[in-house]
Amino acid sequence: MLNVFPIPAFQDNYIWALHNDRHSILVDPGDATPCLDYLEARELQLVAILNTHHHADHTGGNNQLAARYHSRIIGPATETIPAHTEKVTDNDTLSIPELGLQFQVIATPGHTLGHVSYYGANRLFCGDTLFACGCGRLFEGTPEMMLASLESLMQLPDSTEIFCAHEYTLSNIRFAKTVDRDNSTLNEREAAEKSKRQRGLPTLPSTLALEKATNPFLRCQEKALVQAAERYLKHPPRNTVETFAAIREMKNHFQ
Ligand code: ZN
Ligand code: FE
Repeated sequence: MLNVFPIPAFQDNYIWALHNDRHSILVDPGDATPCLDYLEARELQLVAILNTHHHADHTGGNNQLAARYHSRIIGPATETIPAHTEKVTDNDTLSIPELGLQFQVIATPGHTLGHVSYYGANRLFCGDTLFACGCGRLFEGTPEMMLASLESLMQLPDSTEIFCAHEYTLSNIRFAKTVDRDNSTLNEREAAEKSKRQRGLPTLPSTLALEKATNPFLRCQEKALVQAAERYLKHPPRNTVETFAAIREMKNHFQ
């Protein structure tokens, strides 16, 4: 039986641990200490680290974990990843035989230029690309790139479970309500997610179906979002990229 568990790190990061009772992989271990505690307490052997992108809050634990476990360290070919052993690019297939798992690598540039997501066993590990009710900041890429990345993730089955790297959901929903007015699913989602946080639970994983219904960055074709972009731009957006770029910029300034 394969399970996925969150290892909280820093302020709001989740490091995802996938394991059976012997072997584990970790996605985006930004900090080695909570990972070592987790693996040692369960006597798990770390077989692979999957990195989505180069930022330190996703890769900062690589060196220490690699030194202890000599695990594979898998990450985007075009980025500088500490202790990197396997470089992956779009459409690569990745096997983790110890867990009987296969992942498809999906290039998802935007937050960084080399950012990749990992899809396998109906689960998507998407780092800082698609968040619950949000998307990553455009540190290196363009709005076109990020929108294309999100659109390629939207091709996955609606039942796909979304495991992103940060607990940003409640503040993302607060913003989403300002640009996607009268979305009753969004209001219902806010109540559900608030109650999870009050019980100390992560809001993740989400599902692609729920994101399609509530995430403003996946809804740039919807009238409400086009209108929100128009209010911001003071002219009708010329295309979906312009709507997306406007919504992303509004989010940057949202308190
Ligand atoms: Zn990042
Ligand atoms: Fe991050």
